[in-house]
Amino acid sequence: MSKAFKKKEIGGKALHPETLMMSYGYNPEWSEGAIKSPIFQTSTFVFKSAEDGKAFFELALGKREPEKGEKPGLIYSRLNNPDLEILEDRLTLWDGAEAAAVFKSGMAAISTTFMELLQPGQVILHSDPVYGGTDHFLKHTMAKFQIRALGFKENMEEEELMALLKKNEALDKVGMIYIETPANPTNALFDIGRCVQLARQLSTEEKPVYVVVDNTFLGPLWQHPLQLGADLVIYSATKYIGGHSDVIAGAVLGSSELIGRIKVMRSQLGSTLGPWTGWLLLRSLETLKIRMTTQLHNARIIAHWLKAHPKVERVHYLDELEPGSMAADIYRKQCDEPGAMISFDIKGGEKEAFKFMNHLELFHLAVSLGSTESLVEHPATMTHAGVDDEEKLAFGITESLVRLSIGVEDPDDLIADLENAFRQL
Ligand SMILES: *Cc1c(COP(=O)(O)O)cnc(C)c1O
Repeated sequence: MSKAFKKKEIGGKALHPETLMMSYGYNPEWSEGAIKSPIFQTSTFVFKSAEDGKAFFELALGKREPEKGEKPGLIYSRLNNPDLEILEDRLTLWDGAEAAAVFKSGMAAISTTFMELLQPGQVILHSDPVYGGTDHFLKHTMAKFQIRALGFKENMEEEELMALLKKNEALDKVGMIYIETPANPTNALFDIGRCVQLARQLSTEEKPVYVVVDNTFLGPLWQHPLQLGADLVIYSATKYIGGHSDVIAGAVLGSSELIGRIKVMRSQLGSTLGPWTGWLLLRSLETLKIRMTTQLHNARIIAHWLKAHPKVERVHYLDELEPGSMAADIYRKQCDEPGAMISFDIKGGEKEAFKFMNHLELFHLAVSLGSTESLVEHPATMTHAGVDDEEKLAFGITESLVRLSIGVEDPDDLIADLENAFRQL
């Protein structure tokens, strides 16, 4: 893949990611001039010579450093594939990352990263709440490998965080700070810059503390954790990046060094994305900006409308934060736009929430998010059903909480649907 189209400027002018999404990393000469990359639906790749095969394996297994200009060749699709390489190259552009790795799912991205970077006896300090699958993996699965998860809530001050670490004898054991911000499902915000500072404070020469950010809710457009000093950014590409509710995929971005290590673990676990899904994501990336921009526009209108609705208790949306609050301060520092995820407390409880959801017609009653069509779900009994009951309440995942993912439909139509469902209460 030596002659990939990787020009990022014209006449000294740097090109924007939305421009490069159609061409970057692909050369039509590879495929009879085809303007789009074909799907390289192949399990294995033919070596030109035995010497080439030997050299490719040496690089893939990290047995030696590449010589100047030497690129790792294609071997086998569990290790890599042209569609995935193009996709990975394009994904780096939005976040300004050196490298990217794509996975079969967001959970595969998260679990593979944890397996590579953490060791038995270490502690993973994480924000709470997090996505339901991540929550279970952190609190139950990691324990099997003697890795302790220690959660912290929003609005926690520096001293409280240090006290938490001391109380749990974790000060010298932290291996990773993992934050999901904004958090699923409440839009709780966590300060990325502050976590980077804390990680530096806790790091030693032999034992670095990595900062990993799940950027699924706002990225890759409206928040750039690597620019704030985070080591890695993780995505469920099932959500905005895929954007059409038709694929499951994940990605991790960061330095070439860390991504190289994570790719070796990916090859071993076999959590590599397939070429067909990779190809679909290339198509999705071309419209990422216009989709996310329309979703943002719609969400702003709908959140504002919900806030004034008599049957709504409280709206959790990043454009509606209380001025002067810690959340508003974090938002100003690290987010460019409020995104398209809204949750709100309906007046009443589960009964009212269910009745409301059952009467929606345009909003599909389904989990997942970030897609072209609008979705609604009830976190307490669906995506976050597995979270401890006590913790649920502490995180604000109440019986009355309803989560909306806003799509690209006409916002007036979406409001008509919401109003009609409210009227049934
Ligand atoms: C969906 C989601 C995940 C998990 O991704 P999958 O693609 O479903 O495995 C992780 N983090 C967040 C914030 C999510 O919304």
